[in-house]
Amino acid sequence: MKSPVFDLHCDTAYALLGEDRNSAGSLRKNNLHIDLERAGILDGYVQCFACFTTPMMEQWYQLSPVTIFERELATIQREIDNNKRRISIAYTPQDIHRNMEKGKASAILTLEGTAGFGYDPALLEDLYLIGFRMVSLTWNEQNPLAGSCQTGGGLTDRGREFVKEAQRLGMLIDVSHLSDEAFWDVIEMTQAPIIASHSNSRQICNVSRNLTDDMFREICRTGGVVGLNQYRDFLGENADLDTVCQHLHHFLTIDSDGKHIALGGDLDGCDHLAAGFEGVQSYPSLAQKMHAQGLTEEMIRNIYWNNALGVMERCCM
Ligand SMILES: [Zn+2]
Repeated sequence: MKSPVFDLHCDTAYALLGEDRNSAGSLRKNNLHIDLERAGILDGYVQCFACFTTPMMEQWYQLSPVTIFERELATIQREIDNNKRRISIAYTPQDIHRNMEKGKASAILTLEGTAGFGYDPALLEDLYLIGFRMVSLTWNEQNPLAGSCQTGGGLTDRGREFVKEAQRLGMLIDVSHLSDEAFWDVIEMTQAPIIASHSNSRQICNVSRNLTDDMFREICRTGGVVGLNQYRDFLGENADLDTVCQHLHHFLTIDSDGKHIALGGDLDGCDHLAAGFEGVQSYPSLAQKMHAQGLTEEMIRNIYWNNALGVMERCCM
C-alpha cells in the first residue's frame, strides 16, 4: 500500500526555533517529528508548514508574536532554500506536480493564529505573495477577529472582513481552532471550501478542538476537508493507530466515499502522538492499518493525497 502524503498541518517551523525560540534547527535532520531525511521514504510529499502565533507569547517568552512570526518564516524559508534539491515552496497546484516529477517534496506556507501580523486583513495580500495559502483566524485565544475553541465567541466584523479578503485572494480558511459559534459564522458567509486542517471527531473524543457531526457535515457541503490529527489528546486516552482509524470510520459514516477526509498530523505541535506513530515516517504504517481495516487503496490514496490536492486545485490556482 503506497501513497504520497499530503499533510495539512505541522508546527515544525515553530519547533525549529527551539525552547528559547531563537535557535536555528535543521529541517534536513533533527529530533523532531518531521525532517526531510525521514520524509525521503515517502512516495511523494506535500507538507503545510504553519507559522504559529498567539498573544500569549508575550507571557511565555517576553517576545512579541510579531518577532516569533518573523523568526518562523525566516527559518522555514532558509531551511527550504538550504534543501532545494529535496523541497520547494509550492505557490500553485502545478508547482506540486512539477516538484513531484523531480522527486521533490512541496512546502505550503500556512498561518496558525493571526497575532503575528496584528490581525490585519490588509496584510493578507502580502502574505499571499510570500506564499501563504491557508489561514486560520485564532489559535486558542479570543482576538479581534474571532473567539476560539477555548474561549467561545463568534466572528467579529473584522473577522468577517478577514475571511472575505482571504477568500478573494485564493487563501483557504482553516477553522481548526475556532469556537463553535465562530465556526457557524464562517459557514454562513463562506464562498469557498472550508478546511479543518488538524481536527478529529468530537463523537469519538469529546474535546472542543474536535468537530461535531453537524460541523463535519457542513465542511463536506462546502467541498472542504478535515485533516486527521495524530495528537493523543484529540484522539482519546491511550490512543494508537486503531484510535485514528476509529475517527476515520466515524467520519466515513457521514462521508461514505471518504472524499472530505485528509491528513493533518499536528506533528511538532504536540507532545504525545498516537502510539505507533513516531513522526512523518509513520504515515506508511498508518496506511497499512487503514488497508487492514478494509479501506480500499483508492480510498486511502484519496485521504492521503487527492482530497487535499483537489481543494487546492479548486481554490488556489
Ligand atoms: Zn493547532
